[in-house]
Amino acid sequence: MECSEVTNINLSRLLKEGGTARAAGVVREAFSVGAERFPLVGEATWKVVVTAVGGEEYWLSGEVEGVALMECRRCLKPTPTPVRAHFQHLLRYEPGLEAVTFHEEAEDEYYAFGLPDLDLLPFLTEAFVTEMPYTVLCEEGCKGLCPVCGADRNLVDCGHEVAVRHPFASLKDLLPEL
Ligand SMILES: [Zn+2]
Ligand SMILES: [Zn+2]
Repeated sequence: MECSEVTNINLSRLLKEGGTARAAGVVREAFSVGAERFPLVGEATWKVVVTAVGGEEYWLSGEVEGVALMECRRCLKPTPTPVRAHFQHLLRYEPGLEAVTFHEEAEDEYYAFGLPDLDLLPFLTEAFVTEMPYTVLCEEGCKGLCPVCGADRNLVDCGHEVAVRHPFASLKDLLPEL
């Protein structure tokens, strides 16, 4: 399958004849949610399959995979973080509907769409961002920034005494599996 930066899938044929439609591509630089930007290392790749399941209903299933660049929670160093997300949604075709809209009725959740050219970017973004870890460490033993002078303690020994010893640190030595 060719890789394009277009994140649409054209469902015209599927809407007429049923069956299955597939698409694949890449997302470059970043995912965005409103004003918030989630930068990528290189490009994220995605692929989706849309299958007619009867009536006006379609099953969207896909995956998106890439490397997010996240700040280490201790030293703030940009840290490449692999992310791989799967997603599945029920779609319902409502001809004439301009924008994709989310519906929730009792146990039933689906997205209504009215144009055969479906933009997948919102689905890819949601899946990818949801799968990102809440925080990351650049490495297991990252020493973080000095609270006194702000130096990166992985790189320099600024000599400041950081007297904070975690109250459970000694307990941890006793129970290494914690
Ligand atoms: Zn770090
Ligand atoms: Zn310091």
